[in-house]
Amino acid sequence: MRALAAVVLIAPLVAGNPPEWSKPVAPFHIAGPVYFVGTAELGCYLIRGSSGCILINSGLADSPKLILQNLKTLGVEPSSVGILLTNQAHSDHVGGFHKLKKALKAKVWATAADARLLESGGAEDPGGLPRYKAVKVDRILNDGEVMVFGDLKLKVILTPGHTPGSVSYLLTYPDGGVTKTLLFANLPTVVMPLKNPKYPGLVRDLDLSFARLKALHPDVWVAAHVSQCGLLTKAKTGTFEDAAGYSKAIADCEADFEAKKKAELP
Ligand SMILES: [Zn+2]
Repeated sequence: MRALAAVVLIAPLVAGNPPEWSKPVAPFHIAGPVYFVGTAELGCYLIRGSSGCILINSGLADSPKLILQNLKTLGVEPSSVGILLTNQAHSDHVGGFHKLKKALKAKVWATAADARLLESGGAEDPGGLPRYKAVKVDRILNDGEVMVFGDLKLKVILTPGHTPGSVSYLLTYPDGGVTKTLLFANLPTVVMPLKNPKYPGLVRDLDLSFARLKALHPDVWVAAHVSQCGLLTKAKTGTFEDAAGYSKAIADCEADFEAKKKAELP
């Protein structure tokens, strides 16, 4: 899984995007109010609230067509999607924001640090990853803020490092008389040198993100990349609760970070 994650992160820089990033997948239910509406590799998630829907991540610039088709398959009215969120302002997760914002007439909410990337079309990205069409951010999300949508609560948990404004969201929802949690995790994979004059707080941010993610124990977790959380395999079995897989994904990611520290920092 670690090697696969490395491949999908590096590949767009050297040889165009892997075909899985644009490969259609039929939408499916994950847990509670959450549905998968992304591609074979790009995690795009729909939260169906009683008063409207939230979409997390848009995929690439060419993904909105697939996402809109997936919404239609699920019987979701495009006009019911009022808010667009992302885990990280990179082209494979916000490249479609521009088109979706128009098509859905939705608002974009983002962390302050990722808003700078979104509004510059990625020009402000300290990792220098591929640009995308700039989009205006309508509201800034604050660390620790809890968005309340009827009986759903979505907590903003800054997990910076992959981008300076990378963020995870912890959803709390009622499920058969009990309260459950689902984490939309942004794994802190490192896509730039640790000593980066454009991002002096990078190592401190990554340390914070690992501590935060390790402190969480969600019933269900998903990630910005499908392969990071084995989502299509889970969809086949219908088993999405995966505490061991969550711990392992973070431990693998942290081991990569520690190795990078050893190699790059004195
Ligand atoms: Zn990224």
